[in-house]
This record gives sequence, C-alpha cells and structure tokens, in this order.
Amino acid sequence: MKDIKDLDLKELEEILTGWGERPFHARQIFAWVYKKGVTDFDVMSDLPSDLRLRLKGNFYILSLNLIKRIKSYDGTEKFLFELKDNNSIEAVIIPTEKRITGCISTQVGCKFACRFCASGMLGFKRNLTNPEMLEEVLYLKNNSLGKKLTHIVFMGIGEPLDNYDNVVKAIRIINSPHTFNIGARRITISTSGIIPAIKKLSGEGLQIELSVSLHAADDNIRSRLMPVNKIYPLKDLITACREYISKTNRQLTFEYVLIKDINSGLQNALKLSKILMSLNCKVNLIPCNIIKELKAQPPEKSEILLFRDYLLKSGINVTLRRPRGEDIEAACGQLRLHYEKE
Ligand code: SAH
Repeated sequence: MKDIKDLDLKELEEILTGWGERPFHARQIFAWVYKKGVTDFDVMSDLPSDLRLRLKGNFYILSLNLIKRIKSYDGTEKFLFELKDNNSIEAVIIPTEKRITGCISTQVGCKFACRFCASGMLGFKRNLTNPEMLEEVLYLKNNSLGKKLTHIVFMGIGEPLDNYDNVVKAIRIINSPHTFNIGARRITISTSGIIPAIKKLSGEGLQIELSVSLHAADDNIRSRLMPVNKIYPLKDLITACREYISKTNRQLTFEYVLIKDINSGLQNALKLSKILMSLNCKVNLIPCNIIKELKAQPPEKSEILLFRDYLLKSGINVTLRRPRGEDIEAACGQLRLHYEKE
C-alpha cells in the first residue's frame, strides 16, 4: 500500500494508463483528495466502481493521526499529529484579517539546536516525506473553518532546506492548480542559513518567499545562538543572500528573534543595519516566545521599539511580529516537546 499523495498528477496518470484506465481519472481523484478533502475512495462517485476498488487495494489517502488540537484566545490553532511510525509533529493555523496561514513541519525534530528553539531539544529523528507534508496542508485546509487557506509557511519543526528534495516537491504540488492552487508568492521557506541549499534554491525557478533566520549581526553572538553559524558564518551567509536576491530578483526577509540581554541592544541594531545596508530585504523582528526549559526571555517593550526605530531610521524595511498563540505553546516544537516528555 502506498500513499496516493506521493504521486504528482503525471505519475498518477501513468499508473492509471498502466492499469488500462483512462488517464483523465487522475484529475478527478486529485479534485476529490485536494479540493473536496475526501478521505475515502468509496465516496468518489464519478469513478467506475472497479477503479475505486483497485485504488483502495493499492493506495491510502491519510497517514496522520490527530492526537491533540488546541486553540488560542487569538484564534491561532495548533494540531499535534502522530505519524505511522509513532513519531509526532505539529502544524499551526494562524488567522489574521486578510489571510489564513498554515505553518507546517518539515522534519521530526531538528539537527540544528538553536538555543532558543524547542524543536531541536529532542534531537533529530527523520525527514518528513512529501505526502506527510501535503497531508499537514490538507488537514489545515479542511479545518480552517470554511475559510480558504491562503498562505503556507515552512516554519514548523525542522529545517526545510535540510530536507530539500521533499520540500521542493511538496511546494510544486501545493502550487499546482489541480491541488491547493496556492500561489508560489504565498509560500515561504524559512531557513537557519544552509548556504549550499540557498544557492540551489535560487536556480529552481520558484517564485517563493525566502526567510533567513539571522538573529544576530556578529559571528560571536550568532554562533552562541545558532551552532550552524560555525559551519556557515555570517559573512558567507550574507553573500549567499545577496546572490540569491540578484539571481531571483526577489526581496528576502531576515528573521530576528529578540532575546533579552543577548541580541536586543542598540549596539546590535547598529551592527545589523550595517550588514544589511544596500540589500533588497526586509527585517521581521520577533520577540522570543518563552520556553521554560530554555533561558531565553523577550526584552521589554521599550527596548523592542528602540531596536525597531533604529532600523527604520537607518532606512531598513522592518516589521514587528505580534506574538501569536503564546498560551498554546505555538512556537516551533513546543507542543511536541511537552507531549513527548509527558
Ligand atoms: N529551521 C528553520 C525553520 C523553522 S523555525 C529556521 O530556522 O528558520 C521558524 C522560525 O521560528 C525561525 O526564525 C526560528 O528562529 C523561530 N523560533 C524558534 N524558536 C522561537 C522562539 N522561542 N521564539 C520566537 N521564535 C522562535
């Protein structure tokens, strides 16, 4: 038995042809699965009954098992899933006035062990497969309270560029008019800064948004916060970002999690404005979510505003992200962390 979501349209058409069926049934099956959210081949009423039977004997549609669903006072909703091998992952729906964003995980755990992030605390188990990621999207779509899922961000557990092939395949399917039809510009990959993968991504011809988790403007602080900086240091990372921007002709976003007494002083803002000078970029400031196992605390509001205003005065395009879903442990990997420790 195989997960039917592992196939793109062409691959399913080829299988149907091999079975002596007409290939256009693939489009019907895609519409049932991705557009109507149907999870049982028996319901696919426009397919011949022997085809339905054959599909049932060869494929399954769902592999994730929902084990917990919690909603924040601000509307953010978090889902904890169990995978077929008993591992667990999380996905989140973040509604705002204009958009409904689905945030999905790309790996079980994470290798990169950023100091302020819960995702790496239990180590790395494995990559998520392409159909597992598609199923996260499917689940969020079917549970977005009748509203259209407008955006997808690869910002859940894991490092998307460390699961490169599966993530790129999933993006192409999410983008397809036969499935979710979510425009590439509404899909964001967030990376801790894996330089070779950033280079490769720039050649994919995908019009997606790229966010780079910077979190510090000098190597000392960044290496302390993000061990990956010892392999891909700041200077090289900024050069790779500059090349990405010029090759794709797209603006890039830098995420900067503000942590009290670590990277939130004016001297840090000054360094940041210097390294980003003349780059076509935007900075997204994120006061860190408190994770009780880790010592990171967000700065005072006044310090956050001073930091933002300094960047603004330096001519840098900057937004301050409102923390979402704090009461439901919506920051990367928090829910799974506490579930697996229970
Ligand atoms: N591995 C990727 C994507 C997953 S994390 C990356 O590093 O970008 C998505 C974003 O959430 C990253 O910017 C990450 O640094 C941030 N994040 C992790 N823990 C956080 C916390 N406690 N508070 C605020 N943001 C956090």
